[in-house]
Amino acid sequence: MEIKHAKYIISSASFDQCPKPDRPEYAFIGRSNVGKSSLINMLCNNKKLAKISNTPGNTQLINHFEVVSQSGKKKEQKWFLVDLPGYGFAQHSQSTRRRWEQMIENYLRKRENLVNVFVLADSRQEPQKADIDFINSLGKWEVPFSIVFTKSDKNKETVTEKNVKAFLQELGKSWDALPTHFISSAINKQGRKEILDLINELNSH
Ligand code: GDP
Repeated sequence: MEIKHAKYIISSASFDQCPKPDRPEYAFIGRSNVGKSSLINMLCNNKKLAKISNTPGNTQLINHFEVVSQSGKKKEQKWFLVDLPGYGFAQHSQSTRRRWEQMIENYLRKRENLVNVFVLADSRQEPQKADIDFINSLGKWEVPFSIVFTKSDKNKETVTEKNVKAFLQELGKSWDALPTHFISSAINKQGRKEILDLINELNSH
């Protein structure tokens, strides 16, 4: 699948301010600094699309992008890519965290055109509680998701494999079936084709 065009549409403070749900939607979420902006830019071939921020966690908004893609000679497809604010901030006040939780839970449970959530985890790290907890919430809410292990270029392959295995083992404690997962790098574009292939496949349903 080829990305023909991607552009920023709007940032919304809550679920009910989001654009009309008239096309398939894919959301990206993860702890701050996990490489979410870099992944979105890499997928869309646009270095400036999502802001690569140096002040993690400042935005608490739901950011919509419109993407136009094409697979071979098939008709162009339009879909929304959503950049969600990250979680797992020790320095955030409880009220900020609570606001975030409510906004995210509302969005994830109510957004009718949401097809899949990509949960990002850092491939350099062992399983993190914040990621596992968030994934378990998705399960409780019955929201479909996949996992993307980011920044693979920073590791030896064996380290990535070890961390991915440990993460999936941790999930195996509460899940019967393990989710689809991808290994990605914004530097060498590992995972790009696989992630876009999944979106293309889901768009065709
Ligand atoms: P976000 O806070 O999750 O949006 O993370 P960013 O995309 O802003 O990335 C955080 C930092 O990690 C930045 O300095 C990026 O340049 C770096 N980074 C993100 N993805 C990758 C990657 O795949 N490989 C490497 N080497 N660095 C990355």
